[in-house]
Amino acid sequence: MTDKAPETTGLTSKDYYFDSYAHFGIHEEMLKDEVRTTSYRNAIYLSKHLFKDKVVLDVGCGTGILSMFAASCGAKHVYGVDMSNIIDQARIIVADNNLTDRITLIKGKVEEVELPVKEVDIIISEWMGYFLLYESMLDTVLVARDRWLAKDGLIFPDKAVMHIASIEDGQYREEKIDFWDNVYGFKMTSIRDAALKEPLVDVVDPSNVNSSASAFKEIDILTVTKEDLAFTAPFRITSNRDDYVHAFIAWFDIVFSACHKPIHFSTGPAAKYTHWKQTVFYTPDAMVVEAGDVIEGSITCKPNTDNPRDLDIDISYEHEGKAGTTKESVRYKMN
Ligand code: SAH
Repeated sequence: MTDKAPETTGLTSKDYYFDSYAHFGIHEEMLKDEVRTTSYRNAIYLSKHLFKDKVVLDVGCGTGILSMFAASCGAKHVYGVDMSNIIDQARIIVADNNLTDRITLIKGKVEEVELPVKEVDIIISEWMGYFLLYESMLDTVLVARDRWLAKDGLIFPDKAVMHIASIEDGQYREEKIDFWDNVYGFKMTSIRDAALKEPLVDVVDPSNVNSSASAFKEIDILTVTKEDLAFTAPFRITSNRDDYVHAFIAWFDIVFSACHKPIHFSTGPAAKYTHWKQTVFYTPDAMVVEAGDVIEGSITCKPNTDNPRDLDIDISYEHEGKAGTTKESVRYKMN
């Protein structure tokens, strides 16, 4: 709750979104995400030969951590841009680490700022949201790429792959979804329907995964366009045991392929914890599956027309099993 309505402060919900990065708490969570931060550190530190004497742009620098990694690797100069007030802290941090002559911080929207240079050799950015694309910050990286990245310039990271699989999740589904069917003896089924359409960001125990994984979307950050980020992609997964399917889950992997040996990290259920966890999409009904059954479908992902920061995700799927045929299409909303 804020004490002033947005109309009287002149701020919109969009401003509040950006301001959410002003507090150190969110940066603490990201910095303490060891998989995330050490992957960036390793990718940069093991690429000293690429960073030496180069001009680097850090898109959404936050506390300045990635800028400092790059400067420590011999970059000629690093420009860090961030629209959030956290950049005021970053200025102090950069000075306290004696890097002021190597790092220039610019406060503003990447889409609106001017850089003192015409082009940069390398872009570094940590733009990934839940379900990879929630928050659509990748659009901002693409704007920076198209405006400033030199021909043959590099992007760290430069590849993302999205995956889908099915899970058994009866108990949690009961707590989060079916709960609304009977609340102290009353029906709140309308909320059940709303809860079902809201993907849940949570840690999935790998033992709950009961199918193969399907890589449904690969994004090459050097070449992808904003339009490519609204897409429909087919998937096909195979059940690996006799079980029930209560939900689909999605996650993503990230690759720094410019490194001498590509550095990867995964946000999947079998990998080490990251703050992105996994994204769970409960299905309207449980499906009965046998080992070897195939679930085929497609996933459509596009920014919501009214609020482009929100995502509309449609999952359509078909399964023929011994208990009958399922054919469904569900629109989920991430907001
Ligand atoms: N690079 C830091 C912070 C990553 S969080 C780290 O790795 O720890 C993403 C940052 O991008 C946030 O601080 C947010 O304020 C900033 N950001 C998001 N969209 C932006 C935009 N369009 N212009 C400038 N900064 C943006």
